[in-house]
Amino acid sequence: MAGLYIHVPFCLRKCRYCAFYSMAPIDASAVDLYLRALDMELGRLPTGYRPETVYIGGGTPTALSVEQLGRLLALVSSHVDLSRLVEWTCEANPGTLDAAKTALLRHSGVTRVSLGVQSFDARALSFLGRIHDARQSEESLRLLRESGIRNVSVDLIYGIPGCDGSVLAGDLERLIELRPQHVSCYCLSFEEGTPLESARKAGRIHEMSGDEQAAMYAALRAGLKAAGYRHYEISNFALPGYACRHNHLYWSGGEYIGCGPAAHSHRGRRRYANVADLEAWAAALFAGRAALAFEEELTPQAFARETLVMSLRRTRGLRRAEFRAVTGRDWEELCGEQIAELAGRGLLVVEGERLRLAEEALFVSDAVFRELI
Ligand code: SF4
Repeated sequence: MAGLYIHVPFCLRKCRYCAFYSMAPIDASAVDLYLRALDMELGRLPTGYRPETVYIGGGTPTALSVEQLGRLLALVSSHVDLSRLVEWTCEANPGTLDAAKTALLRHSGVTRVSLGVQSFDARALSFLGRIHDARQSEESLRLLRESGIRNVSVDLIYGIPGCDGSVLAGDLERLIELRPQHVSCYCLSFEEGTPLESARKAGRIHEMSGDEQAAMYAALRAGLKAAGYRHYEISNFALPGYACRHNHLYWSGGEYIGCGPAAHSHRGRRRYANVADLEAWAAALFAGRAALAFEEELTPQAFARETLVMSLRRTRGLRRAEFRAVTGRDWEELCGEQIAELAGRGLLVVEGERLRLAEEALFVSDAVFRELI
């Protein structure tokens, strides 16, 4: 399968923890420049490239006006064969959705919306610098359902300083009552260059301990599983039949092309990313060039190791034959010693021809992956 990612670099206001490339507040002439350049970039998609999934992320795509969002969705329709799509996701944030936008999404062909709820707790939302409250999140979910969009994913953030297990329990309870088809849970991270990281460095806030974060992750897993969600990837849970098809590409060595400033692309062993600067990105496209910030060709060995690590993010792990088919390598000759060592420490599980992360390793997966890369 192949996918198309479109980065929309606009938000109403920057959240305190955000390290994504996005501009706030929104300037109409910048959006116009973006849409004209995006048209050119989509026109440069390789001949015969037929994505089966589209993911519009950001930024906040729904922070655009109805007219701007309509232009964006029309660009996708004019450059992509919609009849081949198995999934078309658009990210949205509470506080930026209304009935006109949800109807537009639905009638343009969007099948799935990923909603940045993050928490239902007022203190947590204020700490994160979100623009919305819990009531607006619930209202957004209602609007999406009324528009006919039947596949909604909700993002939650845990590990927020000052928000203990009772906040998480409240979030979980509300989430399960609302019953979105899909849930993504992320531990708050302190990214370089964000106001949150500056406050941490200055000693004004303190990161939650690893043990507390791990306990929250365990509580989320238990609560969502008990409510019928399948834990299918380290951070992702879905009701049966609602696992994200686009993200599966990232976890299976699949191909995707990213459009928009700062978007990344993976095609075979080639990796490249657009420059994270709207004007430089647009200027390159108007001059008839790609707007790349970097480009590399992985060695066959590096590609195989990266595919191994990404595939291990799925709770089902990967099968030996599947790995061979994608990479042309056997994991035994690639890193058999490290696998045996990690299995001996109870972090990896080898079940016949299948390899997966042990449950105990899900929360510390980054450390495990560093040993395999
Ligand atoms: S809404 Fe999302 S992309 Fe925009 S600033 Fe907040 S976290 Fe970043």
